[in-house]
Amino acid sequence: MDSPERQVVSPTVIEHAQSPQNHGPLADFSGHARITGPCGDTMEFWVLERDGSVERTSFITDGCGPSLASGSMATCLAQGKPLTQAAEIGQKDILAALGGLPPEVEHCALLAANTLSAACEDAARRARSDGKPECESCSDTSCTARRRLDGETDQAFAERRQLQAKLCRIHKKILVLSGKGGVGKSTVAVNLAAALVLAGRKVGLLDVDIHGPSVPTMLGLEAVPLQEIGGEILPLQMGNLKVLSLGFFLRSPDDAVIWRGPMKMKAIQQFLQDVAWGDLDVLVVDSPPGTGDEPLSVCQLLGKVDGAVVVTTPQKVAAVDVRKSISFCRRLGVPVLGVVENMSGFACPRCGEVTPVFRSGGGRRIAEDMGVSFLGSIPIDPRIAEAGDEGRAYIVSYADSPTAVLMRDIVARVSEAAAIPLPGAGT
Ligand code: ADP
Repeated sequence: MDSPERQVVSPTVIEHAQSPQNHGPLADFSGHARITGPCGDTMEFWVLERDGSVERTSFITDGCGPSLASGSMATCLAQGKPLTQAAEIGQKDILAALGGLPPEVEHCALLAANTLSAACEDAARRARSDGKPECESCSDTSCTARRRLDGETDQAFAERRQLQAKLCRIHKKILVLSGKGGVGKSTVAVNLAAALVLAGRKVGLLDVDIHGPSVPTMLGLEAVPLQEIGGEILPLQMGNLKVLSLGFFLRSPDDAVIWRGPMKMKAIQQFLQDVAWGDLDVLVVDSPPGTGDEPLSVCQLLGKVDGAVVVTTPQKVAAVDVRKSISFCRRLGVPVLGVVENMSGFACPRCGEVTPVFRSGGGRRIAEDMGVSFLGSIPIDPRIAEAGDEGRAYIVSYADSPTAVLMRDIVARVSEAAAIPLPGAGT
């Protein structure tokens, strides 16, 4: 990467860039990661873990001075820390320790933080499995991945165990569903995930809406390339939010996915099986719309789903779809956390007053009829569409707006229903 002109850098940055700490691979290591950032710089970290703490750490990079300084500072910050704490060293910590970087190269600190975190997670994973395949070290005797199913081939059994090993590290799995597209399912999924991160949770957001993966646009991640470590795809990381979308695999946002059934199923399976999700408090899944084969495969692959949020609009025609979605969940034994009525009235961007435009209340009536909770209404707010188009989560960018308050109430109800503790939100 070219050095930006007229950089103003602190003496600490210069010192760390000129004589980086622990520069070079470790001969003996327990965790390793290699990531190429969006700027093309590659960083590699090695971590030696002893008794749960980082005994030694080391890195290399082919990047510029700020990358060298960020990697070097990350090794200093990680040294001697418990592995879990070292994994949480973030971009902000590295920037603060360096006394800042010019804004145009702050991403070097993010690359260092993400690579260090991935190396620590790799060390923790290896320590847990003690060299054995991860599933073999699990103590859950009721886990179905312990036994081969009747007629299951070696490869299918190995793949199922690999998937189960991933899913075991995800504490809660929440599905966001809708009867049809365009009702705001992705909007709800993105803002739910962002709100959970704000409340201090480690969250994954998986966009398997195979016909219209809109999460990359909604989070401004369209041009960010995916990285691989040891055959596993790294989800894109934004602080405590890890994101993976089918959209990342399309060459251009305009590409349509025209896959036949088995290909779709295989893609969804790989999204769960070959992705380094790591330890997550919650995985929010933006499901394909409807009640057909695609959402069915998602539910089957996820195994135990902790709950589904059904998103609808107020119109009467949407009612049939909501009923179908609720029945679908019941058939599969997925608890319905409740119904969200989106685009319910129009919120004035100036005063926040909500004016009914269509008949509203349909979502609440169906929820009552079908004996599930009504989680709340979200009005049409032009800034929701604007934030989505600009790649920002509305609930973060307009945190003080009346609509964000309504969204937070919905998140609180979802969290309560799914028993997700929200320490950062005071619950
Ligand atoms: P789905 O996932 O159900 O297909 P999306 O979440 O992608 O729907 O929403 C479709 C479009 O509607 C997006 O452009 C989104 O920004 C916009 N949108 C969703 N909910 C609202 C709302 N409450 N107010 C304004 N625009 C909204």
